[in-house]
Amino acid sequence: MYGHGMVRRALRHGLTVEDGAADRMWAFVEDAYPWFRSITGEGVRQTLQRATEIAPIEQVEVPSGTPVLDWTVPQEWIVREAHVVGPDGRRHFDVHDHNLHLVGYSTPFRGTVGLDELREHLHTLPEHPDLVPNRSSFYAPRWGFCATQREVDALEPGDYEVVIDTELVDGSLTYGELVLPGEVAEEVLVSTHVDHPSLANDNLSGIAVAAEVARAIAGVDHRLTYRFVFVPSVIGAITWLARNPEAVARVRAGLVITGLGDTGAFTYKRSRRGSTLTDRVAELVVAPTPGATLIDWYPFGYDERQYCSPGFDLPVGRLSRSLHGSFPEYHTSGDDLSFVDPDRMVASADLLLEVLAALDGNGTHVNLRPHGEPRLGPHGLLGSLGGGVAQKDYEQALFWVLSLSDGDHDLVEIAQRSGLGMTVIVEAADRLTAAGLLGPA
Ligand code: ZN
Repeated sequence: MYGHGMVRRALRHGLTVEDGAADRMWAFVEDAYPWFRSITGEGVRQTLQRATEIAPIEQVEVPSGTPVLDWTVPQEWIVREAHVVGPDGRRHFDVHDHNLHLVGYSTPFRGTVGLDELREHLHTLPEHPDLVPNRSSFYAPRWGFCATQREVDALEPGDYEVVIDTELVDGSLTYGELVLPGEVAEEVLVSTHVDHPSLANDNLSGIAVAAEVARAIAGVDHRLTYRFVFVPSVIGAITWLARNPEAVARVRAGLVITGLGDTGAFTYKRSRRGSTLTDRVAELVVAPTPGATLIDWYPFGYDERQYCSPGFDLPVGRLSRSLHGSFPEYHTSGDDLSFVDPDRMVASADLLLEVLAALDGNGTHVNLRPHGEPRLGPHGLLGSLGGGVAQKDYEQALFWVLSLSDGDHDLVEIAQRSGLGMTVIVEAADRLTAAGLLGPA
């Protein structure tokens, strides 16, 4: 920005997604929606492979049986067929019709059971009789089907032929990773889960937004290193944490992202510590968005549980739109393609980029002429600006940065206290630095 010919854009000055983001994200969600995902297996690989059309995610395979923290990487689950044939010859709960029909990690079973016995293996949502729930049994071997209450109520007494052609084999757990090295090794972690079967918002929107944000950052200069991880819930995050102690030690801020394609306002869940850099940036950037809710830490939810566990204690919060569990479509067949809006995914990606831009532009400085106010004119600081920054805000920002830069206040705090926003504060700090009035703390 100081006029040496062509200068690459920088994340610190603000960034939005690249042209075509809505179409790219939507095409990904549409393609991947019917694929069969679980915490392991081909569906995860296929999904991550498809996401490489947005950004170059690398797949990492961790063999079944590998100890990871207090857990063990499970066997890989393979599904070929799963359905039930009723006494009238009608087929029910076919996994090929909707992959939510089969309970995740169902053990193989072939046999004939009566209606009462079958019912013990059926899962429904009586309060939402037209929705199929999402159920899994990863660590307790059992089989089962999920269905609408309406379909189950209509079953006639008689013999039901159950076909579950599944297999648990020694294979691997797959996670995805994409690292964008910056000028410094300090990292920002963005994590999203990849294991949910046909759930569009609670899974695919997070992958799409993470990939699109990575694509945008890859095209510009950035100070921090950005690491995007695409992990199966719980076991995937635990596996990543167990295998990457060096990266874990470099994390300075981070977000778990999920549920970013619905029409709800933004929800930010604070990290366990509640006052980390990520939490302060969310206060600055997310809180002012219309209808936003910031909520305190609690030890349930998504993979922030793992990242914030006391042994790691990472500064990782969670960004989503509607709070999970607060709407009937959550973890049901209602979370389908109609529940996701491409423009909402774009707005989510842009908000995430705003958070990351604030992190990238942040820093703590000292005023090098702290005795009285320097005369800005002779330092060349009052010239016109161009760009999107308003002149009056910029001039105020100069005084805010000079006033609070005593080594104790970072730019995020100055942006918050001044009410001017991060972009203009970063601009002012850059120009004061170039003029020799500001130095690193
Ligand atoms: Zn979920």
